[in-house]
Amino acid sequence: MIVVLKPNLPLEEVEKVIAEVAKLGYEPRPIHGKVQTVIAAIGDENTHHSLETLSSWPQVEHVHRVQKRYKLVSREAKKGKDSIVKVHGQKIGTGQKLSFMAGPCSVESEEQIMATAKAVKAQGATFLRGGAFKPRTSPYEFQGLAKEGLKLLALASKEYDLGIVTEVLSERDVDLVAEYADILQIGARNAQNFSLITEAARSGKPILLKRGMNMRIEEWLLAAEYVLANGNPNVLLCERGIRTFETYTRNTLDLSAVAIVKRESHLPIIIDPSQGAGRADLVIELCKAAVALNADGLLIEVHPHPAEAWSDGQQQVDLDLYAKLVEELKPFISAVGRPS
Ligand code: PEP
Ligand code: MN
Repeated sequence: MIVVLKPNLPLEEVEKVIAEVAKLGYEPRPIHGKVQTVIAAIGDENTHHSLETLSSWPQVEHVHRVQKRYKLVSREAKKGKDSIVKVHGQKIGTGQKLSFMAGPCSVESEEQIMATAKAVKAQGATFLRGGAFKPRTSPYEFQGLAKEGLKLLALASKEYDLGIVTEVLSERDVDLVAEYADILQIGARNAQNFSLITEAARSGKPILLKRGMNMRIEEWLLAAEYVLANGNPNVLLCERGIRTFETYTRNTLDLSAVAIVKRESHLPIIIDPSQGAGRADLVIELCKAAVALNADGLLIEVHPHPAEAWSDGQQQVDLDLYAKLVEELKPFISAVGRPS
């Protein structure tokens, strides 16, 4: 920590702050300038008592952290090595095959989920996505088929050998959803619901952690830190757009998050262009950009008849557009050197 003191402070006041820094378990190293004194406080900020409270002292101008607030998710924690998440016989992460997680926004019927699973499997997807518990803005909108939806996902998984990615909305349902899911999705609206995240982490299933629509990258990494701190190393970060002033898109897909996450963390990053833009017509271009940035996977909403979808119809690609997308991505995948 760096503690910057107010200008022209009498020496005895400087001494009081130095004494407090030492009392809090840090080694104080004052640097006396002509006008101001700066105290470098040596110690591990993550295990020592925080010095941030000193900013309320009248002698102190401000206190700066030096260390990052997250530890286990940071790139340094694995000495620069990337995490590879192994699930459903697949490896997700840097240098691995691009992971395609495709399927409808919501599971609606056996016919719908089977037709989608068949089509995405034929196009090389390894995971089927689909919500059985849906976080809807209005209580009058379709809330998902719950357990029935999970059973339909299991049916499709068995028939087409696809791993299942599905959202868990509440702590109450973690055990149930974990019975059916290969990857538990924590949605944008729950991305800082720490008791849900903790419970989901304890299930031992890999967690796909969406970025909340108003979350900073640091907050998102700290939410992921909860999973690792609860003994579960398997986290996939998922950028799904943040809310901005723009109205041409539902959210603003923050693709810079891919590059930043790769610098800051060892965790894989998945891009969700569907919630990201809220527009089916932008999905192919956003996927190309995500692959070019070296994202590790894509979470894409696909529906056999988007116009009849029970949720998010405007952003789901139909089966033909999905096939076109997979075809058009091929040169991008080989350009970044990922195996196909
Ligand atoms: C979804 O994947 O359908 C979904 C609801 O996602 P998000 O939590 O990102 O809005
Ligand atoms: Mn959706």
